[in-house]
Amino acid sequence: MSQEKLVGIIGWPVTHSLSPKMHNYAFKTLGLNYRYVFLPVDTAPESLIKDAVLGLKALGFVGANVTVPHKEAILGLMDQVSDEALAIGAVNTIFIKDGKLCGHNTDAPGFICDLLDHGIDPRGLNVLILGAGGSARAVAYGLLKHGAQITILNRTESKAIELKKALSESFSADLIKCAAFDSESMRKHGQADLIVNTTSIGLLDQKATPWDEKIPFKEGQVVYDLIYKKTQLLDFAEQSGAKAINGLGMLVHQGALAFSIWTGEKAPVDIMKDGLLVS
Ligand code: NDP
Repeated sequence: MSQEKLVGIIGWPVTHSLSPKMHNYAFKTLGLNYRYVFLPVDTAPESLIKDAVLGLKALGFVGANVTVPHKEAILGLMDQVSDEALAIGAVNTIFIKDGKLCGHNTDAPGFICDLLDHGIDPRGLNVLILGAGGSARAVAYGLLKHGAQITILNRTESKAIELKKALSESFSADLIKCAAFDSESMRKHGQADLIVNTTSIGLLDQKATPWDEKIPFKEGQVVYDLIYKKTQLLDFAEQSGAKAINGLGMLVHQGALAFSIWTGEKAPVDIMKDGLLVS
């Protein structure tokens, strides 16, 4: 039998991730001799992430996914970065090719694929994005590329302004607004067609929500939470009559694109979905 090939997920925290389960099920079903492992890497000391990435090369990994909170920091550690990942300013997939670290971003197309799967065409939509971290960069890029206009609210407002500046290099600045992450902005921009939560609020504490519940959503609106389980935000959206979508479909599509980059094979999207359901 050929030597087992390794891929994994770098993040902190990371053990909540469903990616190992999804990919290992697909590898096994297709008879590919790959294994996907957890790679927990803390944020301190700062040098740790660089050591971890160089360690992937030394240990002969085929590649890795990158999640919270390393997606932006890791970009500068790559030998090559795809045009899309460069424009987004974040890397979520590393492929080690001929000893070189190649950075990709599959979050943007993964998010758009899932919107389309739900019958939502971003063209012409007015979208409110909560958060301005690594995944917000990808979501914003994907939406603008597909003809939406966006407003970004972030706790650290300077990061939202910085994101607008970066996106304005690829898209018209008129399509991008920023505002403070507060009730006033939520009230002002909460009538958007689509509201996307890209903050990590609700990831560990299921009762926590990024939204001021004094401001109801309405029928016809769509609330999308990148967190891939039922969250307080999605419960509230449903109670208000809005359509609620969690990040499970995006997880599958971004994972499918990473799968193809690593293996060179067409990704088995349905099998990957099934993998999430097996106990
Ligand atoms: P980052 O760490 O890069 O960004 C986190 C964002 O959340 C920042 O905007 C941060 O604001 C904000 N935030 C965190 N805590 C708070 C708080 N208490 N109050 C207000 N804002 C807060 O993370 P990512 O963008 O990589 O990931 C974000 C979420 O998206 C995670 O839950 C992750 O699991 C999920 N995700 C899901 C994917 C999928 O396939 N379904 C793909 C990618 C991500 P500030 O800038 O002020 O710190």
